[in-house]
Amino acid sequence: MQAETSEFDVVVVGAGSGGIGAALAAGRAGRSVLLLEKAETIGGTVVRAGVSTWEPDAGGKGIPHEIYRRLTNIPNAVGIYSVGESLDSYGPGGARFVTGLCLIDPDKHYRDTLLRHGSPNGVRNRSYVQKHWFGVVFEPDAYLRVVGDMLGEMLGETGCCTIRTNTTFTDVQVEAGRVLSLRLDDGGSITAKAYIDCTGDGHLCIACKCEMMRGQEPKDRFGESDAPAEPVENVNGVTLIYRIARTDRRAVEPLPPDVPDECWWREDYPAANSVQMPCGDYLINMLPTLEGREFSDMDYETARAEARRRVLGHWHYMQDVLPKFRQYRLSWIALALGVRETTRVVGRYVLTENDLLAGLSGQSHDDIIAIADHAMDTHSQGGRGCVELAEPYGIPYRCLIPKGFRNLLVACRGASFSSIAASSCRLSRVMMNLGQAAGTAAAVAGEMGVDLPAVPPFRLRDANQCEL
Ligand SMILES: Cc1cc2nc3c(=O)[nH]c(=O)nc-3n(C[C@H](O)[C@H](O)[C@H](O)COP(=O)(O)OP(=O)(O)OC[C@H]3O[C@@H](n4cnc5c(N)ncnc54)[C@H](O)[C@@H]3O)c2cc1C
Repeated sequence: MQAETSEFDVVVVGAGSGGIGAALAAGRAGRSVLLLEKAETIGGTVVRAGVSTWEPDAGGKGIPHEIYRRLTNIPNAVGIYSVGESLDSYGPGGARFVTGLCLIDPDKHYRDTLLRHGSPNGVRNRSYVQKHWFGVVFEPDAYLRVVGDMLGEMLGETGCCTIRTNTTFTDVQVEAGRVLSLRLDDGGSITAKAYIDCTGDGHLCIACKCEMMRGQEPKDRFGESDAPAEPVENVNGVTLIYRIARTDRRAVEPLPPDVPDECWWREDYPAANSVQMPCGDYLINMLPTLEGREFSDMDYETARAEARRRVLGHWHYMQDVLPKFRQYRLSWIALALGVRETTRVVGRYVLTENDLLAGLSGQSHDDIIAIADHAMDTHSQGGRGCVELAEPYGIPYRCLIPKGFRNLLVACRGASFSSIAASSCRLSRVMMNLGQAAGTAAAVAGEMGVDLPAVPPFRLRDANQCEL
């Protein structure tokens, strides 16, 4: 029997922040959409890796704002946090351990979370940060409900938005810069007019044999002053997020037998960022749990098992040195590792550190479709470290177009960014904005009967309410 072939206007592969933005934008524009997700649930890093926080960032209008507004209708689902005190302590060997606390701030609004840049001299000045930085924190289950409703509503609006979880592609047919079809792991095939890679790692682009980047590019590749002289294979560190909940019993939770009571993988326990949730729990983000190099050297399951041991050791240490946390218990460890960076596509344009430093006032691109202003956040991989930006910068549409392709876009952290640029713009709301632009581009291309690179960028800018 011949395997079934289904036809769609747009196929979005990967249902994280980028994929959700892309599917919603294309579907709302009346296109038939297939959203393909290999995991058991949609949501990607935000849901499965527990990164249900949106740091302050200039992007964040459009779909993320709509999600926020809907979340406010659910009790205890979402809050705005401000940066509180930093708890410092000294361990047995005199090692300094720092935990930044971000606390729910009922006086702040969503618009307060849309600004990060402007810290004096690019330095993280504590009083500036406490006065100007506010982020969003939400319950992953409520986010899934809201996003599920938004995707579901399109059934009525467009008659066709199909979500398939636990499904991926096994083969891709490409001809002359066009993706023709995908073979799925259930044996079926799909064809579409436009394909959008939202897999985070650019898996569809890799399968299409697009040119890819990994690790840190050398200085002379893009003329970035903070890049290393030679290429470096290392990628940004990986974090396994965990959650703690308040309890009536004050205690340091015991360590399981296979977890030592000292930091066995490096000199000191890594610092942590602790974000309070609307219900009073905290999300703990170790900075990081595994170094990028360690992660690259292990298979995924080994890396997650080792990260889990480190979480247990880290939590025990935190309770030991910071008595405040003895009133909490470890209540959840994320299902997936939080991966900041792997492979990136080489697009028609590669966003670099020079764009970030020039800012909107110094960039001359006429195809900017999203903005961002997060610091270059390379997690101690060299260069200047975490440099705050003077103003927001723009991301050109060409960063979403893999070189040589006509019906394929990439809208995720694997888009066409140098390693340094990716360290700034990978934020969830920015990825959702890229997805929204990509989904809109697929719809406009269909409406105009043109290839994706020919879509007028101003139509995409409007989708993100990206004011320049
Ligand atoms: C520890 C950590 C802390 C962070 N903190 C913040 C923060 O505070 N604020 C913020 O805004 N950002 C933060 N970020 C960054 C942000 O969370 C991510 O960069 C962003 O969510 C990535 O979105 P994405 O859509 O590119 O990828 P993802 O959310 O990873 O989605 C990719 C999806 O594609 C699916 N997929 C992969 N391959 C396939 C395939 N072959 N077939 C089908 N599906 C596939 C995956 O299962 C996944 O669901 C943090 C990241 C980490 C790791």
